[in-house]
Order: sequence, then structure tokens, then C-alpha cells
Amino acid sequence: MRIEKPRGTRDFLPDEMWGRDLIEKRISSTIENYGYRKILIPTFERSELFMLKSGKEIQQHMYIFRDKGGRELCLRPEATASVCRMFAEELRAEQKPVKVYYSCPMFRYEEPQKGRYREFWQIGIELIGPKGPESDAEVIDIAAMSLKSIGLKFKLEVGHLGILRGLMQDLGINREVQNGVISAIDRGQRDRAEKLVKDRIFFDLVDMKGDKRVIGRVTKLIRGHTHSLKALEEFKEILSYLDLMEVDYSINLGIARGLEYYTGMVFEIRVDGLGAQNQICGGGRYDNLIGLFSGLDVPAVGFAFGFDRIIDAVREQDIRVPERRIDLVVAPVSNEVREEAIKIASRFRGRCSVEVDLMNRKLGKILEYASRINAKYTIIVGPRELKKGLVVLRDMNSGSQKEIGMDEIREIL
Ligand code: AMP
Repeated sequence: MRIEKPRGTRDFLPDEMWGRDLIEKRISSTIENYGYRKILIPTFERSELFMLKSGKEIQQHMYIFRDKGGRELCLRPEATASVCRMFAEELRAEQKPVKVYYSCPMFRYEEPQKGRYREFWQIGIELIGPKGPESDAEVIDIAAMSLKSIGLKFKLEVGHLGILRGLMQDLGINREVQNGVISAIDRGQRDRAEKLVKDRIFFDLVDMKGDKRVIGRVTKLIRGHTHSLKALEEFKEILSYLDLMEVDYSINLGIARGLEYYTGMVFEIRVDGLGAQNQICGGGRYDNLIGLFSGLDVPAVGFAFGFDRIIDAVREQDIRVPERRIDLVVAPVSNEVREEAIKIASRFRGRCSVEVDLMNRKLGKILEYASRINAKYTIIVGPRELKKGLVVLRDMNSGSQKEIGMDEIREIL
């Protein structure tokens, strides 16, 4: 009987995992350099956690099931709601800012295609506590620096939902309808949005894109609309901090984001060459979500990388990832020196990666294996050399070999 893996899931073979791990480590270490600490959230949560604010797009795609106690649970479709729950339950007494990051799979029942899976990995950060524009800018900077650390070329666009929502408020549109409009814009459903908002000025605002010169046009467009103008002021401050941090960006006020909890700055990062699924990062400010879970008025801002798409982009942009190498293979030439070979392998394992022959192969075959796994050196253990207290060290790159004492090997390795 042949059983296949579920649709939208993948097996990651050793070579691929090696590359994924290296890239993940570079991103995590960049994030940690800004003072973030790693957390892990449960794989499943009470499904109501995501019903509050995660947005229809996510709710429709949740894996929901009942446990034996009849509770309705779901596989986590995203992390921000869980982190807010965690903050309310366990971290509320901590000194602010609370800076945390995660790297784990998410689950969404979507139509699988290139760059879209039912199980996919996100690396994300949440910065909890600060409200000022410099914290929005720092979060964007972390995303940009993480991608630079792996040598990726990308395009970063920043928008601000406060400007769009502020204008709708100034136009007398209520919060419920605002959510519908934002979600329609996020899905590219312009006609649906136009049924909800009649004023042309709103769509002129949504269409504002480009470099900093856009700001002048926006200021003119929303003149007299106080809530929107107030958000624009904050947006301008965020942009000046981004300039200070030398982050390359363009402005796009049409960024809406499907997750309903965003309240202010929003940003997206895209790369060329991945077709329709080219968005590798999305994030923004969500000042009311923690309040929803805790009653505490705690602002927050964060982002999530789509890690699988980052890996696709690394491949697409031909970025070389260092190959996996084993430092040492220990090869006994006969059974009588096998125990000695195992002892030698154990001695070196504290300081480097070592394999010892486990297949009872002849020397020639062990050397073939060693070059196939890309070993740097092979120690050939033979009875004649052992009597002199020596072994043979073979450099697998050059093929040269010499008799040598253990202390000298230690120095070479
Ligand atoms: P979101 O949580 O929807 O804001 O998504 C954040 C990032 O996760 C996106 O920018 C994508 O890169 C990635 N992502 C979202 N859904 C999927 C999926 N089904 N498969 C792969 N990556 C995804």
C-alpha cells in the first residue's frame, strides 16, 4: 500500500534542510542582534483566538477540529494572535519593550501552487510596548537587514492604514464598513470597495505610489481631513527614521493587508521572479489587538517572513549557500584495527564532525564514500602504522597523504 503525503505539505531532504537551516540562522542572528528573544507558541490553539481579528481571509482557511473533550481547536494559521495571547497570559509584567521572534510552521487550507502551501514556515518578530515612529522604522529595518544578511535583492513598500481609515472616518464611514473596504482592497476587489465608498478622493489616496514626492500630493489631496492628516504626520516621521537608517523603500498607500488587526504603518516586501506568490514579508502596527485579549492598552508592531518563499528567492537569485562538509572520515583498513578506529573517531568528535566506517567496506570504497559526502580529510588506520603510533592522513581535496601522529592531526584540524 502506498501512502502519499497530504496535499500542500512537503518532505525536506537533507541537502535542502542544510540550506534552509543556514539561511534561517542568518536571519535569526540578525534579529537577535536587535535584542529579540526566541519564543515558541503551540501548534494548535482554541480557534476563537483567530476569530476575533485575524481577518476573513485567514478564518476561511483554518484547519479546525474538535478534540476528545469537544473543544474547538485549530492548527495555528499565523502567530501574531498567539503572541498577543501569550503576552496577556505570561509576559504582561515584563519590562517593555518586549521583543520576541518565532520561526515555525503555519497551516492554512489554501489551494496549493508554487509558493503557496498548506504547511509553510514563517519567521516573524513582534515588538510590544513602544508606540513611537522610531519603533515602526526599526521593525522595517530589521526585515531589510535580515534579507540583506542573506544577500537577497528585494523591493520594500510602506503604507499606512491610519491614513486610509482616518479618511474614511472623516467621510463618516463606520468601522465595520471600513474593515470591508480594507479587506476588498487587499484582495484587489476594487468594485466591491467602490460599492462601499462613493468618494473618489479615497481611491485617489489608495492609488498614491512612488518615492517621497508622493507625500506632497497626499497632503494636498486630504487637505481638511483631520484624522487622515494626523496619521500622515506620523507616517512622515516613520519615513524620516527610515532615511536615517538608510533603508530603501517606496511608498504605496494601497497596501491594505488582509489581517484585520493592523491600525497604522503597514509594509510588504516582494522579490522578482517568483510569479504571483512574490510577497516574502508582510507586517505592520497593531495597537488594539493586545487590548482585545487582556484589556491592557499595549501597542505593538511586527512582521512575518514567508520563509519558503525566501528560500525560493535565494534559488531564483542564484545565491550560493556554502556546501555541507564533514571534517573527517576514519577508515580502518581491516577488522583488527576497527576498535582503534572507533576510539580515534570518538577522540576527535569533541572538536569537529567525524564519521567512522559503519558498512565494513574496503579502503577504496570508504575513500569513495568520503569524497561523495564531501569530507575534508580521511584518517586511514592500519596495523603497520599503528605499531609506530601513527596513522595516515589523506587530504580529500588534493588526494595527498602522509603518515602522521595524532597530535599533529589535531593541529591541522
Ligand atoms: P500573512 O501572515 O498572511 O501576512 O503572510 C506573511 C507571509 O507569509 C507572506 O508574505 C507570505 O510570504 C507567507 N505566506 C502566507 N501564506 C502562505 C502560504 N500558504 N504558503 C507559503 N507562504 C505563505
